[in-house]
Amino acid sequence: MMKPRVRFAPSPTGALHIGGLRTALYNYLFARKHGGTFILRIEDTDQGRYVPGAEDYIIEALKWTGLVPDEGVGFGGQNGPYRQSDRKDTYQQYAHALVQSGHAYYAFDTPEALDAQRQSIDNFTYNHTTRDGLSNSLTLGDAASQQRVDAGEPFVIRLKVLPGREIHIQDLIRGSVVFQSSELDDKVLLKADGMPTYHLANIVDDHLMNITHVIRGEEWLPSTAHHVLLYEGFGWSDTMPQFAHLPLIMKPVGNGKLSKRDGAKFGMPVFPLNWKGETDEDSFEGFREAGFLPEAVVNFLALLGWHPGNDQEIFSMEALMEAFTIENIGKSGARFDFEKAKWFNQKYIQALDTEALAARVRPLVAAKGYRTNAEYLEKAVGLMQERATVLPDFVETGYYLFEPVKSYEADAVQKKWNAAMAPFMAELIQVLHDFEPFLTLPLEEMVKKIMQEKGLKPGDVMPLLRIALVGTMKGPAVFDTAVVLGRDETIQRLQTFLQYVVDLQ
Ligand code: GLU
Repeated sequence: MMKPRVRFAPSPTGALHIGGLRTALYNYLFARKHGGTFILRIEDTDQGRYVPGAEDYIIEALKWTGLVPDEGVGFGGQNGPYRQSDRKDTYQQYAHALVQSGHAYYAFDTPEALDAQRQSIDNFTYNHTTRDGLSNSLTLGDAASQQRVDAGEPFVIRLKVLPGREIHIQDLIRGSVVFQSSELDDKVLLKADGMPTYHLANIVDDHLMNITHVIRGEEWLPSTAHHVLLYEGFGWSDTMPQFAHLPLIMKPVGNGKLSKRDGAKFGMPVFPLNWKGETDEDSFEGFREAGFLPEAVVNFLALLGWHPGNDQEIFSMEALMEAFTIENIGKSGARFDFEKAKWFNQKYIQALDTEALAARVRPLVAAKGYRTNAEYLEKAVGLMQERATVLPDFVETGYYLFEPVKSYEADAVQKKWNAAMAPFMAELIQVLHDFEPFLTLPLEEMVKKIMQEKGLKPGDVMPLLRIALVGTMKGPAVFDTAVVLGRDETIQRLQTFLQYVVDLQ
């Protein structure tokens, strides 16, 4: 295959939805697999929907997940500028050229005149049936229209769609898709304020940036009909990119596509990073802040619509680049399964060595104000590694590795405590003071011995030891925990617990 050039072309209208990130990922993987180029283009021509901060958010989300563009806003490149608001002049030239070649026309209808049409005609659209009765260069003639344009009268440029044609596209995912030109409206290409619409800017840029494949969400499929006509109008049909329209991402349950509101509804992130909007309703939690590893998010997203053709589930980015093909993208919606996202995260947490894991957990430890050294942190995360699903588990569930136990599971203490425990614990504390080596197995042997001497069973002792050390019945293995906490802390906790129980009596 010729080296592909693909683009991710988000509009900065708010936080980048997880579905947008999947689009970026598939573009990235396709480019990487074939040694091609991945471009970030910011489609910000709709001033009304522009949201400050959204562009930075997009860039940060791409960097976080490692989807670093070869060219684009914030990344340099020879085909820029890559922000559409910086390319206004280009679009104007192309729009006017399309009028010259007869594929587009000027329209002077005022907003009021169009409103009047909408009032009198049900489902009014500006198209081959209505345009003859409206104020445009087709009805006014070229000379009169040019005069109006030269006189500074406001105008838009519309695509002239001829009826009676079948427009075929060969979508790489959906196969052959046919549109009837009679059903298409005469889309505005250039607005009265001189800004292009999405359609014009998108096509001009895909052409000028030599895009070979357009991989984007399925919601853009209907636009493709107009896009094909634009390519024709410009005389660029030969270099028209190939299209691949990705399946929807569906809600975790029920029908319909995943929406940004589903995050709050189902208690899960649907954005890569936190987003602070104007209101709480418009603010969203990100996968990053929820404690997901970017490689887990990438793996999860890759399989949300694409399948490897076998039952392999764990894919590093390199493995994805190798395995990814457009042919294996599904047509039907992919269900967003947050449990699965957590499963991936757990797997990726478990696969890290403790040094790397400690590096990921360290910022959370610092944010809590815990003071700990590198060596201790590694031991602590190693102890919790098997039980953690998201990074905050290390400092929330596992807080007791960084500060004293805050509370004991009272019911369990009640149930398990018996008169023989006090002398047992007292003796254990005594022995621990100079017990060597302070390691899991020797500790276990030693405790067993004392238990036997006192006629106690593991079922009597172990739950209480665990509660003493971590406050709850759930938690890592008791002696491993003691080793991580160290001799002094272990003794301290046993004493504190003993005191607590004595006070209870
Ligand atoms: N600006 C469009 C978006 O926000 C781009 C669609 C496309 O990739 O053509 O998704």
